[in-house]
Formats: sequence, C-alpha cells, structure tokens
Amino acid sequence: MKAIRTFTVRPVLADSLAALDTLAANWRWSWSRATHALFETMDPKLWAEVGANPARMLGALGQTRLDELAADESFVARVREESERLNAYLTGDRWFQNLEGPKPAHIAYFSPEFGVDGSLPQYSGGLGILAGDHLKSSSDLGVPLTGVGLFYRAGYFRQSIGEDGWQRESYPLLDPYGLGLTLLRDADGSPVEISLTLPHDRQLHARVWVADIGRIPLLLLDSETPSNTEEMRRVTDRLYGGGGEHRLLQELLLGVGGVRAVRAFCRVTGRPAPDVYHTNEGHAGFQGLERMSELITLDGLAFDEALAQVRASTVFTTHTPVPAGIDRFPRDLIRDYLQSGLFARIDPERALALGLEDYAGGDGSVFNMAVLGLHLGQHANGVSLLHGAVSRGMFGQLWPGIDTEEVPITSITNGVHAPTWVHPALKGVSERAFGDAHSDRHDWRDAARVSDEELWGVRSQMKNELVGEARRRVAASAMQASGRDTAPAWIEDLLDPTILTIGFARRVPTYKRLTLMLRDPERLTRLLTDPERPVQILIGGKSHPADDSGKILIQQLVKFSRDPKVRGRIVFLPDYDITLAKTLYPGCDVWLNNPLRPLEACGTSGMKAALNGVLNLSILDGWWDEWYDGKNGWAIPTADNASNDEERDDAEASALYDLIEHQLVPTFYERDGGIPRRWLEMVRHTMTDLGQKATSDRMVRDYVTRLYVPAAQHDAALRADGFTEARELAAFVNRVKAAWPKVHVANVDSSGIPQQAQAGDRMEVRAYVALDGLSTGDVAVELAYGRTDENDKLASDHAVMRLDAAGPADGGITTFTGALPLTVTGTFGYTVRVIPTHPQLVSPVELGLVTYAS
Ligand SMILES: *Cc1c(COP(=O)(O)O)cnc(C)c1O
Repeated sequence: MKAIRTFTVRPVLADSLAALDTLAANWRWSWSRATHALFETMDPKLWAEVGANPARMLGALGQTRLDELAADESFVARVREESERLNAYLTGDRWFQNLEGPKPAHIAYFSPEFGVDGSLPQYSGGLGILAGDHLKSSSDLGVPLTGVGLFYRAGYFRQSIGEDGWQRESYPLLDPYGLGLTLLRDADGSPVEISLTLPHDRQLHARVWVADIGRIPLLLLDSETPSNTEEMRRVTDRLYGGGGEHRLLQELLLGVGGVRAVRAFCRVTGRPAPDVYHTNEGHAGFQGLERMSELITLDGLAFDEALAQVRASTVFTTHTPVPAGIDRFPRDLIRDYLQSGLFARIDPERALALGLEDYAGGDGSVFNMAVLGLHLGQHANGVSLLHGAVSRGMFGQLWPGIDTEEVPITSITNGVHAPTWVHPALKGVSERAFGDAHSDRHDWRDAARVSDEELWGVRSQMKNELVGEARRRVAASAMQASGRDTAPAWIEDLLDPTILTIGFARRVPTYKRLTLMLRDPERLTRLLTDPERPVQILIGGKSHPADDSGKILIQQLVKFSRDPKVRGRIVFLPDYDITLAKTLYPGCDVWLNNPLRPLEACGTSGMKAALNGVLNLSILDGWWDEWYDGKNGWAIPTADNASNDEERDDAEASALYDLIEHQLVPTFYERDGGIPRRWLEMVRHTMTDLGQKATSDRMVRDYVTRLYVPAAQHDAALRADGFTEARELAAFVNRVKAAWPKVHVANVDSSGIPQQAQAGDRMEVRAYVALDGLSTGDVAVELAYGRTDENDKLASDHAVMRLDAAGPADGGITTFTGALPLTVTGTFGYTVRVIPTHPQLVSPVELGLVTYAS
C-alpha cells in the first residue's frame, strides 16, 4: 500500500538535548563542519538514509537512541558547545556591522530558486546555487538581508538513467515540516496568508515558510493551502512548472506575493522595511509594480514618481547572454492580468510598456522580463566582466544612441560559499595549518605552510572518496535500471584514484556542449586507455525534462561510456545535484568547462573545484576569461575564425585533446618521490589566488559596497520629506524628455586651438548649445577627448571634461566654455555632447538621452 500523505512525528528531547532542535532548525548546520558532524555521529547509517538532514534525523532517531545520547556526557557537551557557537554566530558583530558610512537597513533578495542544501532541492542549477551562496555569505558577513522565493512541493527532479541511456525523471514530494522550515505566523498564532486577485474572478493564496539560513531568513511562498482552489494549489507544484500561464502565476506569486510576504514578515518580527530590493534574474520583476502600486495607493505618488522611487532602490542582476534564457510572455496575457485589479491603481498600459520590446529588433507582441527588470532597476549588473560587456551589447537597444561601453549595466563576478564547498578533509588541513577552525575563512595565502606531502595526501583522500561514491552510484543505478539486485562485477573496478581525473558536470543546454569531448572518439579512447599515463573522466548533468535534445546528448555519452573498450575510464554519474557536487568537485584533478563563448555568463562549478585545489581546463568564458593567469590551469583556445559550427567544434575539441595530451598528462605524471611537484605548485597557486577572489564573501561585499549602499542612499534621498526628491526627479525626467528632441549643439568654436598643438598647450573650446527651455542646471555639456583610431573614433579610455555656462542664453543659444591642457601626444580628437544631469541619476546616460555635436 502506498500512503497518500506522510508526516513526521517528532520524539521528545530530554532537556540536555533540547538545543538539538535549535541546531536542526537553522541551516547553518549545512556549512558548519562541527554541527554537521554532530548530527551525523548520532547514527551515521540513518543519517545517509534520511538524506543528511537534521530535522528528518531527529524525527527518525527513535526514543531509545535519544535516551542513550542524553546519557552520553561527551555528546551532551558537544551539543552545548555547538549551540553556544551558533548563538554567538547569530548575535555577534560581523563585517557589515563594522562597515563605515551609510548602510542599507534591510535588503530583500528575490530569486526563483535557492540551492541551500541537497536536502532542500529548490534549485535546478547555477542560478539557484548562487542564490543560496549569496544568503550564506550575507549571513557570514552580517548583511541584513531576507531571501524571497517559492516553496516547490516537488523540487528539483531526481534523475535516473535507463538501460537505453535515456534520462528518466521522478519528483519526490517534500514535507516542509519535516525539513526544518517553520510557518510564518501572525501574533495570534494563525498562519500568515498572502492573496492575489487574478483575472476571471480567481484568487491565489499562499502561506509562507521560513528557513533560517544562519542569520538570514528565507521566505518561501507555498500555494498548497486550504483556501486555494485545486487549480491554484498547483501554482507552486514544481520548479519552473509548465510554460505560459503556469509560469506567469509562479512569477506573479514570487514578485507580488513576495513583497506582501516581506511586509508581513517585517510586521511580525519588527524588522525595518527593506530599502533595497535585489532581483536575481528577471523572474521576480513584478515586485517593482507591486511596490509602485503601494506608493501610489498609500503615499499618493503619481505613476512616474513611484517609478522613480522604485528604480532608485532596485538592483537587477541579469544572468544570461542567451536570449532563450529570458522569460517572455504574450503581451495580451500580461495586459489581461494588469487590467484585473491585481495592482491597485496602476495604469495598465503604462505598466505594460515597461516590459515591451519597443526597440529596433524587438518583438512587439511579447512582454520581456529582462526589459521589465532593467526599466525598474536603476542599478543593474551582469555576473562577470565579460558577461557585463556582453550584456551591454545585448541590451544596448534599450538605450539607443548610447555607446555600448556606456550602457548602464555594470558587473560583479559571481563567487561561491567556501564553507559549503570546501571538502571537510581539506578544511581540516587548513584548520591545522592556519589555525582557522570555526572561522569560516578560506585563506590560503600562507599555502607554503602545507607541505607537498600533506597537500597530495589530502587530494588523494578526496579522490578515493569520489571513486567509492562513484562505484556506489553506478551500481545502484545499474540495479535500478535492470531490476536485478546485484550489479555487474566490472563496477567493482570502476575508476582508479591514482589516474589523472577530469570532471565535467552541469545542466545540459546546447551551449554547454556536453559531448564536445566525443568529437573524435578514437582520440579520446587513446587518451583514456593509454597503458602508462591514462586519463579518466567523470560526467554528470541533468537535461531539462522537456528538452529531448539534451537527453540525446546524455544518451550519446552514456552509450559511449558503456563500450567495454573504455568502460570504467569514462563514467556518467546520474542525479547531479548539490550532494553529488560536494564529492565530485574535490575528487577530481581537473575541472573541464567547454561552453560556446561567450554564452556562459559566469559559471561557478569551476570556482568550487578551484577552492578544493582542482585545476581548471576551460574555454576563456565567464569567470575564467577574467582570472585565468597561465598558472592556475589551462585555457582552451576558441576558434573564432571558424567558418561554421562544425569546424569550430572540431577545432576546439582538437585543442582540448592537445592540452590534455601535451600539458596535463606530462605535468600530472611527472613524479618526484611519488609526488607531482609541478602539479602541486599550480594547485597551491590556485588555492592562494582564487581562494580569495572566487568566494561569495568577496561577491557579497562587492554587492554591498557597489550596489546596495548606493541604492539605499538613493532610496533615502528620494523618500525624504514626503518624497520631495522623487517628485522632483520625475518632473525633471519628463521635462528633459519633452525638450530633448530640440536640444542641439549649434556650433563648436575651436579657434582657440593652436594650429601646431604641442604638449603643454591649452585648448580653448566654446560650444553654443540650444537648450530649448531647459536650464543650464538640467544638462551637462561635456568635452570628450582622447586618442582616435583610423575612423576618427575616440578610444574607449577617452576622458571627459565638463564645460561651464559662460552667461545667460542669447537668442536661445547658451555658450559653454572650457580650457584643456594638452598632455597626451599623438593623434588627438574631441567632441562635445549634451546630457541631462541630476544628482539622483546613477549613470549620466541612463535616460537614453544624449546629443552630440555634428
Ligand atoms: C555549481 C553548480 C552548478 C552550476 O555550475 P556551472 O558551472 O555554473 O554550470 C549546477 N549544478 C550544481 C549541482 C552545482 O553545484
């Protein structure tokens, strides 16, 4: 018989163990080595069976074992110690508390997925895991942030591989009570319920689960509540459910419901209202419309004023340079929702316009969530230097007439949470060598303190562990696929921990090129089966359930790996998720990444590998383009000149084989006293250098200082004195937009420029500008100057000098002047331009208004 519902009955904890409840209820256990170990030691076998989750563990342990533990003094002492440590962690001052200057009061961070731990599968890939790491580092740094997402009843699917090599999916249902989540309740004890009014007389209700991620609350909205109709209960049934309207409902719940959930949470807990809203990718874009609606209804602002206020406090992070990765909905569907009364007192047509692709090359029939995100977020960024540049190009049409370099999208390179991703054995080494127990730091700048022997020892230990885990997984998968209860014997010799091990695991969209390594199967076979210096490859990856082309790639790899010639040297590990990732990355020698440049916005698996002393072998894309330095791994050259895709893939695959054969293999197998010294030199350099840059601590500090602090300041400035500045800014924007078509540079007088200029001369410039009623305070007239290329284009490192108004307008023309000392030599050029200027603009060109002298 199959139960239709399951739930957990918790045993009673003795007083001496009561703190276990608190420890289990805070997800810090997942990155605290000591707390994790504490739960595991209670019953290591059961720990694995309950999916390594403390709340489930406490539910499953049974009174007898609990009584035993309660009588075990050393265990009780450890419980006390861990609970004191958690308390100190939750209350003490951290980096943010010691930060000087104005700071945000509260940041609301929205994401459609959060990858916190393997036992909370609310993610599908890098975007979600990044969000989880963002919360954890915010916690470690003391940043006052609240995460906002959805609770999917069936989270990330479990993958198995059939005998035919085809991916199968299953969706285990999650019980939030048994996992360590609590329901958000009002002061009177009743669950908080969020409601949205939808077209066709429908109401969408949701409850709110709270997961405590260290110091950070994560609010997860769940439509599984008795007040919903059957249809509405299904809204949060699974991650990125269906297409079209189902997905739209999820995004409305996330954005609109998310703001309402944050309001309720602040009311219940007394936290200040957020002054910064950060949306991780475009899915939560409707949060901005909800906040505009609040400002219009409660504070009496007009549409444009509310827009100015919301923009000032919103940070939007774009994550994909792949247009197909951006959510777009039919325009008419969105119009239907906007007209339904979902957003009180918002002009539906004006709201709709915020997401339309009304630019050259856009599709007028769709509503684009990235466009909405960029219109509603005055602070926008991509996730690596290269991705920032690509995004400026990709979204440049939103700012027509603006040079691509100036498009107001900056970048903050992603990072990963070291305490989560560094293997416990390696953490043990650094605790001994650097004395950083419980510090959550990952600082290997003193790497010389760890001997080659010790470093190689721990690397080998991690490899051994991976080989064991791989054998277990492959055996389980083979038994599941065949229905037999023994696994084929060859699996016992699968892989060899002494062989050079390359790992490759990721989602399987086409651009990641899962099967690039199969381009030349003979050559790959030779590398794998070399009698003296072989290579072995571990592969993992899930295809989106609806994406058969991805499943075909997986099948090709699985089939190749079953060929007896290479079997055991190339292995597909099913069900790639956080749990597998934590064993997989540290157990490899090399982490491979071969996306189609520049489609990998950042990539983070290589960073997690690097923190474990793994060397990267990657196309120069995403983060690797920025941080590859010739000593921390290898760069696969891109075949930018190839005449077609086939040729390009052939060339890049061949470069990949060459690197493995001529660089990796010789370095890895060169031994001195059994130890690959040159290899370890690269490992040490990787740990020292990337150990600092690649962490999400660095990333979150960047977000705070470069985006959150400015956003909070803009929010406060606009909000002060009854939104005086918000009204003023909105009026300014409308004024300059109306006047702009007639603003022009009538003439530039360069008679002050010496004929034979030489360094040290001064250049006098007078620009005559028609302002069409704008004041000299509304605009900046700038001289842009620097070296020029053969097409007279100013170099991108050109400088800018502001010209001053030389008196009142005369006949509609205002004169602006300036004198520039000439210090650079060579071919020199300049131009004059007019831009709007206002203290509350973040970028001088964010309004898309600029006029050049002609
Ligand atoms: C880190 C991680 C990812 C993202 O890796 P990319 O390199 O960005 O593709 C995906 N899935 C899991 C389980 C991860 O741990």
